Amino acid sequence: MITQHDIVIVGAGLAGLRAAVECVDQADVAVVSKVFPTRSHSGAAQGGITASLGNEEEDHWEWHLFDTVKGSDYLGDQDAVEIMVRDAPRVIYELEHMGVPFSRTPEGKIAQRNFGGHTRDYGKKPVKRACYAADRTGRVVLDTLYDQCLRHQVKFYSENYVLSLVFDGKRCAGVVTYDLATGELHLLQAKAVLLATGGCGRIYKTTSNGFASTGDGIHLAYQSGIPLEDMEFIQFHPTGLYPLGILVSEAARGEGGFLRNRLGERFMERYAPMVKDLAARDVVSRAILTEIREGKGISGRGYVHLDLTHLGEEKIQERLWEIASFVRIYLGIDPVYDPIPVQPTCHYVMGGIPTDVDGRVLMDEKGTIAQGLFAAGECACVSVHGANRLGCNSLLDLLVFGRRSGLAMKQAISKVEHGTLTKDSLRATEEKIKKFFNVRGKEKIGEIRQRIQLLMMEKGSVFRNEEGLKKGIEEIRSLMEHYKNIGAVDKRKAFNFELMEAMELGHQLSLSEVILFSALHRRESRGAHYREDFPVRADRYFLKHTLVFQTPKGPDIRYKPVKITRFQPEARVY
Ligand SMILES: Cc1cc2nc3c(=O)[nH]c(=O)nc-3n(C[C@H](O)[C@H](O)[C@H](O)COP(=O)(O)OP(=O)(O)OC[C@H]3O[C@@H](n4cnc5c(N)ncnc54)[C@H](O)[C@@H]3O)c2cc1C
Repeated sequence: MITQHDIVIVGAGLAGLRAAVECVDQADVAVVSKVFPTRSHSGAAQGGITASLGNEEEDHWEWHLFDTVKGSDYLGDQDAVEIMVRDAPRVIYELEHMGVPFSRTPEGKIAQRNFGGHTRDYGKKPVKRACYAADRTGRVVLDTLYDQCLRHQVKFYSENYVLSLVFDGKRCAGVVTYDLATGELHLLQAKAVLLATGGCGRIYKTTSNGFASTGDGIHLAYQSGIPLEDMEFIQFHPTGLYPLGILVSEAARGEGGFLRNRLGERFMERYAPMVKDLAARDVVSRAILTEIREGKGISGRGYVHLDLTHLGEEKIQERLWEIASFVRIYLGIDPVYDPIPVQPTCHYVMGGIPTDVDGRVLMDEKGTIAQGLFAAGECACVSVHGANRLGCNSLLDLLVFGRRSGLAMKQAISKVEHGTLTKDSLRATEEKIKKFFNVRGKEKIGEIRQRIQLLMMEKGSVFRNEEGLKKGIEEIRSLMEHYKNIGAVDKRKAFNFELMEAMELGHQLSLSEVILFSALHRRESRGAHYREDFPVRADRYFLKHTLVFQTPKGPDIRYKPVKITRFQPEARVY
């Protein structure tokens, strides 16, 4: 079946929905999502959204800009960061007008809380910059934007899995989807396609990410000849519940919680004397793992304690209710009285599909624009987070660049007609599916996935070195051979989750290779990328963005310069 829309948006997280709201007044907009829209990972965001409103204490966008650039270890493009932080207050008021129920100060202003790496006066001390709705911020913003989409008649293709992008010559002209409920393939034709498919945390065994975060959109772009930018930068959040990896939001430390080792020491005082437990995430994650390596994990095991017991029941119930209930449900302990066992957990990918500040996808280091293709949100790399993202800057990124992509698509479609697609455009995808059903291989999807996830924890997580990265790449390539032999057990046409998982596994494999390959070639330590064999930042050689291209011979690497406007790189101490 072929259906035409002006704009097709893949992904119903905050980036996709914000873009849809922006362009629906002048275009026929469809949103495709593999999960029900309000189950997108954005709904799991607990902590908040940053903006220098200054409601609780003095704040300025220039300070927000400095913190974000420093947090990025000077790899963020400063022109893009400036656009984002200057737009932030407007974003918050807009959400308020749309109906988001933010938490309030006693005098009725939007309340703000501390988050790691956000400071006053260029690094002097922590500042309250994150606006929040208790610890359910993502949930309420996602529901509000979904309501706005329904109100403006955005068309939803819910539980539809995008299998491939379709091109008319060089222009992206639509997507092919697998409709889970019917098992039918649909060709959705569009004048502009936006990828807003979120992150790829599910490549790692220990992760805070939902099951859908398998990097589909990032890999669909890569397969279509788009390079991937800065994929070596994978964020590990310091406080995942041990041993599950489920997130305990940084809001817990923002509200005054702190970390302790086996000896009861507040060890962050040694690693970040100025801001302590509120240092940037890469710094805190490395500190936790260093303590564990030195035998100072609790009971000599792989975790430390996050202590909230001094906050009191009332504050925990009011501000951290959801976090506390997670801890009670999953671990059976009460954070009002007991410290929480935590370990770093894979949380966010700073890299992704390269775009300009209006979501247009870039095809090379010269900035050539890909026709008809846009990207926004976690799958995109603008780049505002550089080598390490600060907490609560992601929701801001989604809303600022989601909106800008919507505006840019509205403009772009006024100048183009629909391409000439026929049923032939479906054929390649049909063949791919037929092949999957016909292979009588012995390999199991779950087994290969588990091997990737363990391998990536071992070779490509917080600490890396040349030997491990090289071995990791070899092992991934061998798993790629195994992947060719996976056999379908479930032959049903409708609700075939196995088909979906097989496609996701292909994405996970290929992205793992890109992550390890990018990491191998960056022979320095910067932000979330830490090389034991090259422990210092080397601006002279590596103050540049990685671009990895897919070629028949395997990944190929090139680089492009970082945009520096106001802040020259300095030593990064917290
Ligand atoms: C537990 C947790 C807490 C967080 N807390 C915060 C916070 O407090 N503040 C903050 O700033 N950031 C936070 N983050 C980060 C932030 O939530 C994410 O970066 C952000 O939500 C990503 O949004 P997105 O719109 O890019 O994609 P997502 O919300 O991940 O949505 C992706 C969408 O793409 C669709 N999709 C993917 N692949 C396909 C396909 N093949 N076919 C069809 N549809 C597809 C999915 O169905 C989904 O609708 C948190 C992240 C996690 C995991």
